[in-house]
Amino acid sequence: MSEQRKQTDERRAVVVGAGMAGVQTAVALREQGYEGPVTLIGAEPHQPYDRPPLSKAVLLGTAESSAFDVDFEALSVDLRLGLEVTGVRPGDQELDTEAGPVPYDVLVLATGAEPLTLPGADGVPGVHLLRTLDDAARLRPVLDRKRHIVVVGAGWIGAEFTTAAREADCQVTVVEAADRPLAGALPAEVATPMAHWYAQSGAELLTHARVAGVEPGRVTLADGRELAADAVVVGIGARPATAWLAGSGIATGPEGAVTADDRLRASWPGVYAVGDCASFPSARYGERLMVHHWDNALQGPRTVAADIVGESHEPYDPVPYFWSEQFGRFVQYAGHHARAGTLLWRGDPASAAWSVLWLRDGALVALLTVGRPRDLAQGRKLVAAGARIDTERAADPAVPLKLTAL
Ligand SMILES: Cc1cc2nc3c(=O)[nH]c(=O)nc-3n(C[C@H](O)[C@H](O)[C@H](O)COP(=O)(O)OP(=O)(O)OC[C@H]3O[C@@H](n4cnc5c(N)ncnc54)[C@H](O)[C@@H]3O)c2cc1C
Repeated sequence: MSEQRKQTDERRAVVVGAGMAGVQTAVALREQGYEGPVTLIGAEPHQPYDRPPLSKAVLLGTAESSAFDVDFEALSVDLRLGLEVTGVRPGDQELDTEAGPVPYDVLVLATGAEPLTLPGADGVPGVHLLRTLDDAARLRPVLDRKRHIVVVGAGWIGAEFTTAAREADCQVTVVEAADRPLAGALPAEVATPMAHWYAQSGAELLTHARVAGVEPGRVTLADGRELAADAVVVGIGARPATAWLAGSGIATGPEGAVTADDRLRASWPGVYAVGDCASFPSARYGERLMVHHWDNALQGPRTVAADIVGESHEPYDPVPYFWSEQFGRFVQYAGHHARAGTLLWRGDPASAAWSVLWLRDGALVALLTVGRPRDLAQGRKLVAAGARIDTERAADPAVPLKLTAL
């Protein structure tokens, strides 16, 4: 056994946050041969679970649970659930918890994100968020009652919740402050066609509509309109759950994300950050990325574990990927289009299946696909390779995307 590995084995690794990123970190540490003690601390009382099904099968009741299929005991991971970490003192290498201090040698921050709340709506009966298993459990009977629901925010969560609520035969009005759905994520020409999906599903989408107040049974808009609401579901975004780091000296950015380096190391030695709570510099895209999607919480932990174990110090520079299931459509995205110069359609956005490609200096940097998983799979590889593509051929949806590389 190498001297380095021996040293590694004696260190106590503590992971804070038992969501996807935290669980995957514990698993990856063991997979990569880490033999020291691993403690995984999670604030929620439930067996660690996957979040995407919460706005899909779990919400509709077609799946009871989305618990991860991980045998923590067999992995010798000390799983401490229902325990909130309230602070960290990196100088002392100690966490503060409700159950007393927890010492560590290596610390991984994986506390995810928490949903933004609507000002003035906190504690109003009938107002819901959708982030946790408990949130989904509270929303299930709301769907069963088939009443009128007002959804605030036409983002990813708003779209998926609306899909489920329409499937459950609820009357749904979606209130969106911007002029279109997904305004923060996609340019107007891509998101505007998606607005029709709401109407096609039987939901009403009100754009340019800002909520002024919420009271039991009613939502008031800034223009004075009043909407009857047996329930209100707020999906207006999420912020990294890092308030507990305040005063610790661990650096966070303007949106609260732990500003990790390209190996996901935080600003203190021996401290890492991964998943929704972190941001990292991407050489591929020339900017710092904060990715709030499942695949990032799956991939990042492998980099963290490899760096801790000392097996590899490769930078973390993924092609971000996510999917969304909404209005009977499978939407997928890979890459990062912020600095793309050219947008190229591949198919008609009014049809059931189409893709849109983003290029920069002739190279494919991102793509969004609707009902075209093959485009996504092939395009993702082209993005990863930084491939230049033949735009004329790529605009023809009959030509396999992989055959358009120059
Ligand atoms: C309803 C829903 C649907 C989604 N659907 C999709 C999808 O279709 N596709 C996709 O790509 N992504 C989807 N996502 C996003 C994806 O689930 C997240 O990116 C992923 O869960 C992030 O994992 P994480 O471990 O970083 O954070 P989280 O899953 O948020 O886990 C963090 C955990 O840390 C715990 N924690 C926080 N603070 C503390 C503390 N101080 N002490 C102890 N524990 C703490 C939290 O309780 C939580 O359990 C969805 C998210 C939601 C909410």
